[in-house]
Amino acid sequence: MLPAEPPRVRVVHLATPPVARFVPAGVFDDYGWCTSDALEWRTPAGLWDGATPLDGGDPARMVFVVREAGAFLPRELACVHAFGLGLVDEQALAPWAIDDATDGLHARRVRPRDALWLAADNLDALFWGLHDWAHFHNHGPLEQRAWTELQCDATALAWLWHNLAAIPLDNAAWERARREAATLSRGRFAAEGVAFDEAALAPGRLQALVGACARTSRS
Ligand SMILES: [Zn+2]
Repeated sequence: MLPAEPPRVRVVHLATPPVARFVPAGVFDDYGWCTSDALEWRTPAGLWDGATPLDGGDPARMVFVVREAGAFLPRELACVHAFGLGLVDEQALAPWAIDDATDGLHARRVRPRDALWLAADNLDALFWGLHDWAHFHNHGPLEQRAWTELQCDATALAWLWHNLAAIPLDNAAWERARREAATLSRGRFAAEGVAFDEAALAPGRLQALVGACARTSRS
């Protein structure tokens, strides 16, 4: 019998340049402690699903696979969570341990890209992967949860916009994701009894976020 063909995998280095903080000072205690630059994203070739809705549930078929530098993180078998990538006994960050990773990477000053790469085969999964990538580079006490998540949602949407061609994603799919993320964010602010600024996730503002920070850091 011939050995099984290894799965075809797309490996994309998504550009994740720094995004300016727009939420109040104090929401994060060490915003941008590590300058984000790129996220290695792997997805099974030909199986990308750009239509999964952001419904606020746990993202399916998404996990951060752990590199050697991340061996201190809480881990589970990666192949339980991500399929079609040829994963066998690789370890992944336990999906319940995003906050632990945010704290642990910061405390040990381990660069997220040295510790993790992202497995995701659909838009909901990629959005949450990028959202978590924002957490990993911007430490906060997670006390003002709605504000914290808003910054990470905006950063994820800005990075999706920045990488439309590389993903690939069309404008309509991005806009749908933006509207769905705004609905989730609105709900978090309502639950905390805090006013939600509808302009925070306006399309033009999100699309300018990456460039705005680059201009600031050069000046
Ligand atoms: Zn979050």
